[in-house]
Amino acid sequence: MKTCLVVDDSKVIRKVARHILETLDFEVAEAGDGRDALTHCEATPPDVVLLDWNMPVMSGMEFLKALSATDLPKRPKVVFCTTENGIGHIKAAIEAGADEYVMKPFDRDTIASKLQIVGLA
Ligand SMILES: [Mg+2]
Repeated sequence: MKTCLVVDDSKVIRKVARHILETLDFEVAEAGDGRDALTHCEATPPDVVLLDWNMPVMSGMEFLKALSATDLPKRPKVVFCTTENGIGHIKAAIEAGADEYVMKPFDRDTIASKLQIVGLA
């Protein structure tokens, strides 16, 4: 089973994402900020990370940079989630190592197509 780590400080968004991902046959884990996510990735690297941008403690961008600095044998794919007013962040995130992005609010079809693009559907 493919694994996805959902990283978002919103419990509601994590719940929505989990539901979508489970219907796509992913095993889902959750983290509430970038630092939690990094700890999780170092212990049990998922196939893909669905990454929020704005979070307390450690932001999505800080997480991306920290993930690149780890020596994981296989780096998880990263799909980051942005809002309409976050369009300017897309280029920076891709440069920092994100593989794809989705706009919030996302739906099942969008998530499914992005996972397909990164090779996980
Ligand atoms: Mg957030």
